Amino acid sequence: MMMKCKEVSHLIASGSAEDLGFMKRMELRIHLMMCNHCQGYADQIKALGKGARRLVGANEPTTEELQKLENEICDKICSHGGGTHH
Ligand SMILES: [Zn+2]
Repeated sequence: MMMKCKEVSHLIASGSAEDLGFMKRMELRIHLMMCNHCQGYADQIKALGKGARRLVGANEPTTEELQKLENEICDKICSHGGGTHH
């Protein structure tokens, strides 16, 4: 029943968490409370969103940037979660 880290990080990165139903949003929040990886990820996204806008003016972080960050975090999560490689 628990959401996976990958699912959580994807929802955060894509910003589609807002479109989720109530139960899913609760799951997401609970996951974030319990999972340091995803918590850190959410913080990074927030920082990226604000920081990037401040740095480059009015530009939002691009989907590519978010995707890259998402992949990096997923790699970290996966290598923690007992992946065979690395
Ligand atoms: Zn997680």
